[in-house]
Amino acid sequence: MTSPTRSKSRFLSRVFLVLLLAGATFAAMRLGWLPQRFSPFPPISLDERPSWFLDTRLAALRLDRPLCEAVLKEPHISATSIADQPYKDGCGWQNAVRFSQVGGAKIGAEKLTCEMAAAMALWIEHEVQPLALESFGARVVSIGDMGIFDCRNIVGNPLMKNIRSQHATANAIDISGFTLDGGRQISVLRDWSGRSKEAAFLKEIHRRACRYFRVALGPEYNAAHKNHFHFDRGAFSRCK
Ligand SMILES: [Zn+2]
Repeated sequence: MTSPTRSKSRFLSRVFLVLLLAGATFAAMRLGWLPQRFSPFPPISLDERPSWFLDTRLAALRLDRPLCEAVLKEPHISATSIADQPYKDGCGWQNAVRFSQVGGAKIGAEKLTCEMAAAMALWIEHEVQPLALESFGARVVSIGDMGIFDCRNIVGNPLMKNIRSQHATANAIDISGFTLDGGRQISVLRDWSGRSKEAAFLKEIHRRACRYFRVALGPEYNAAHKNHFHFDRGAFSRCK
């Protein structure tokens, strides 16, 4: 006959194992290590505004080039895969693309990870464009980007100055503003503050960006971001 203490400890060790397995599965999905074929979730699609398990479905693109090529399609994005650059000294990229158009807006993006490119396409097409039409009666025709790949550490935060930026792995983009059909310019530096329509637009699209990017920083984060939005899909989550 099994003693109550022994069966209790067996029960607890089973609970521990289940929790450990669940934690490991969650971590693998967040890091993009779980191949799509083993995922309980369907592949991400750019056709519609995804409503559930968005972060995990985006992360599934990280290491999967065939999935990436199947997902990043016209008319949502005009993207071409680029060769991997093996990591050296914390810098390089894997499964990245170059793209000239995203969500109907021109952009000159030389290299950005597939996962980030998909997040950009979803954010521009399903959040930025509808809000631009609603607020200004015009679509965004071009996006001002201040850079993607840069082999450097994080700037603007003394506590993180020894940590590589997500820009060092082409997993981040900085956006300075937008041009609308008809020529209206919206600039993060000039228009963020105040009560203008442009300010409201910038604040709302920044807020909505937090669904798609793990890190979405703007002028309220620190002085280094007064003139741009920084978006990335690294390990951390921060929306400010
Ligand atoms: Zn940045």
